[in-house]
Amino acid sequence: MFENLSERLEKSFKILKGQGKITEINVAETLKEVRRSLLDADVNYKIAKEFTNTVKEKALGMNVLTAVKPGQMMVKIVHDELIQLMGGTHVDINIKGNPAVILMSGLQGSGKTTFSGKLANLLKTKRGKHPLLVACDVYRPAAIEQLKVLGEQIGVPVYSEEGNNDPVKIALNAVKEARATGKDVVIVDTAGRLAIDEQMMNEIAAIKKAIDPEETLFVVDAMTGQDAVNTAKEFNDRLNFDGVILTKLDGDTRGGAALSIRTVVSKPIKFVGTGEKLEALDVFHPERMADRILGMGDIVSLVEKAQEQFDAEEAKKLQKKIAKNQFNFNDFLSQIQQIKKMGNIKDLASMIPGVGKALKDVDIDDDAFKGVEAIIYSMTPEERENPELINGSRRKRIASGSGTTIQDVNRLLKQFDESKKMMRMLSKGGKMMGNAPMKR
Ligand code: GDP
Repeated sequence: MFENLSERLEKSFKILKGQGKITEINVAETLKEVRRSLLDADVNYKIAKEFTNTVKEKALGMNVLTAVKPGQMMVKIVHDELIQLMGGTHVDINIKGNPAVILMSGLQGSGKTTFSGKLANLLKTKRGKHPLLVACDVYRPAAIEQLKVLGEQIGVPVYSEEGNNDPVKIALNAVKEARATGKDVVIVDTAGRLAIDEQMMNEIAAIKKAIDPEETLFVVDAMTGQDAVNTAKEFNDRLNFDGVILTKLDGDTRGGAALSIRTVVSKPIKFVGTGEKLEALDVFHPERMADRILGMGDIVSLVEKAQEQFDAEEAKKLQKKIAKNQFNFNDFLSQIQQIKKMGNIKDLASMIPGVGKALKDVDIDDDAFKGVEAIIYSMTPEERENPELINGSRRKRIASGSGTTIQDVNRLLKQFDESKKMMRMLSKGGKMMGNAPMKR
């Protein structure tokens, strides 16, 4: 996410490195580069220009402040302006009604259905809500099926009406159904078209009028860059939506949409989608995003993600096992699975300051654990519990069962042993420190 932009901006700031103070000339040079970086990230021309003008005014206005180095000062100003560009502060979705009704809008393929599932999952697991998903795409049976599959995965009911081709009625009936069955959030997924057309707009506007939602969200594919921004404008002119969901901000997205949309439609980005999996959803925080863009990482989000995934009870149990030297391959496997649930490994790693840049050209995906998992799955339950059972012939069997080599199996066993030792040492050390009287 944003790797190219981060790198380009860093280069722009280098112009000021070693300069004693900010002058008209070095500021102009730096900002020319900043503007180019923004344009290359597909930020709208006017927005990029206004952005650099504001930064320039602030930088020159702060000339008197000689205490900080100009390079650092420029980073600080750009950082603050990026936050402003993305809306300043985080705006949450409104789920206060009973039921709270959330209407999805957007083009086909933007990720509406996927996001509906992600949001239902988040509201259910993290906010204790009881959502109802509603399939209102009456043109594509496959879309209804897709929502049903998602609903099943997350254990959220899906409302649909076969044979009814009036999405307004379906949506109204769904809200009634939610009231009758004690559901407190209704998420209405609607039909999209490949391009904006009058009928789609009329239809979604009619649904909105009929169900009067607490939130109308516009879902848009960030990879489409400036098109995303233009589409946002057309939908907003028609629907006056409440918030934007930027999807597909994983991978090579240049990020221009994230930086331009707020200025163009004056509506906050509320969530960003960062992958196809149900957990690949981030709450949008302008400040944290600015940190990431400037290569400062996003430790806050990383820690939050870790906290969400790691169950405190489980962690305690694990600690005990480690202390008693009972950590086995089942524990190992469940650790890997927890990490995988946190999302795309490369995106996670890039939340650590400085790491994003280092990993720019490195290919890491979720397959990173595939070999290790295959080896563990090829062990018998007994072997997983008692790794010391795994002798030469067992190693051979495991290697052939997992499609790996004996060397691979040996390597994993060795790593496992070493990490076990290390964990034991750390757990003892921690205990010792915890028990030691304070020296003064
Ligand atoms: P809809 O037509 O608007 O309902 O779009 P879908 O939800 O069917 O999504 C279209 C495609 O985009 C699917 O293949 C999704 O898996 C994929 N997709 C959705 N959100 C994301 C995301 O945040 N990142 C990535 N990489 N793919 C996504």
